[in-house]
Amino acid sequence: MSTVLVINSGSSSIKYKLLEPESGDALASGIVERIGEDSGRVAHTTGDGTTELTDPVPDHAEGLRRVLELFERAGPSLAEAGVVAVGHRVVQGGQRYDGPVVIDRAVEAEIDRLSPVAPLHNPPNLTGIRVARELLRDVPHVAVFDTAFFHDLPAAAATYALDREVAATYRVRRYGAHGTSHQYVSGRVSDLLGREDLRQVVLHLGNGASASAVVAGRAVETSMGLTPLEGLVMGTRTGDIDPAVTFHLARNAGMSVDEIDELYNKRSGLKGLTGQNDLREVWRLADDGDPQAALALEIYAHRIRKYVGAYAAAMGGIDALTFTAGVGENDARMRALAADGLAFLGIRVDPGRNASRGRGERVISPDGGGVTVLVVPTNEELEIARQTVSLL
Ligand code: ADP
Repeated sequence: MSTVLVINSGSSSIKYKLLEPESGDALASGIVERIGEDSGRVAHTTGDGTTELTDPVPDHAEGLRRVLELFERAGPSLAEAGVVAVGHRVVQGGQRYDGPVVIDRAVEAEIDRLSPVAPLHNPPNLTGIRVARELLRDVPHVAVFDTAFFHDLPAAAATYALDREVAATYRVRRYGAHGTSHQYVSGRVSDLLGREDLRQVVLHLGNGASASAVVAGRAVETSMGLTPLEGLVMGTRTGDIDPAVTFHLARNAGMSVDEIDELYNKRSGLKGLTGQNDLREVWRLADDGDPQAALALEIYAHRIRKYVGAYAAAMGGIDALTFTAGVGENDARMRALAADGLAFLGIRVDPGRNASRGRGERVISPDGGGVTVLVVPTNEELEIARQTVSLL
């Protein structure tokens, strides 16, 4: 057996999964939460159940040390699990990385250098890499970048209409994000439909949300830009907004750049519109007659429809439309609302298939022509594990 330990290190959390890339089986998974806070938590799950530690976790190194202890205590023993590599999720790979790379000092330095364009993500990703390389010295560590799938976007899609020199000096372009998920899901759709030449739109609707257009396996458009702020309405992020709103707030509300950054990233989207960032809560409010919640659902679906239409135009047609991530996989009502009115593009959702409580990969469009509409659960960890071993 050969396995890969996949690590996703955030500012106050570390998520991990031990996987067998070939079969896709997960042997263990877990999370370290509230790193650096007064109360911490480590939860480690295997086939036998979940083991929990609730002491404070002062820093990432201590968090990972506890995870390694839990592997020894609750299993499976990492020494016996045939770990061939550690795969790290890294959000921003800039213009440099179009695929996975074995991490050395130079790669660490490059991830650090890219921090100004991913200030919320690359620094904690790098912290996770550094502590993991220190604690797991016998295996190679590989970085899998969230931007890599979008590295070769056509220039017309990747370039902002901004002064060329300013853009070049400050590396301003559309990098995209969630690329590992879009790559995995579009690949699955291609396999499921047995076609390589598909024109696909993938909707990754989680707390963060993004759309991509993929032609014959190659990404040609995506909704996230320089950072994951652009595009669809998200749990707490605005998605698309006129940049002049920023000037307006700076000049007239006296807000600083940092305050506006926080407003757009953490206090907007569904949360800003309704007070709730979880779409299930927004539905609950709307079902109870809250007009703001009903409007938020309309805004959310309207934005998705605009992107699907735009991407169909960019691809000269569309063969498959796929929903994934927390909302996309679970929320039949939002899927129906988002596809509503797109019949002119051949997009139809079969109500019975859409409402069926299946958890796996499934087609939800009616039989007989038109666009194939699917639900495909994403599996970013498996994609990271597979890309990691493909490199070694
Ligand atoms: P992340 O982007 O953090 O990885 P997920 O992909 O797990 O998140 O998506 C989380 C979101 O999915 C939640 O905030 C919630 O809005 C939504 N979600 C999960 N289950 C459902 C459901 N049954 N119905 C509607 N929304 C759901």
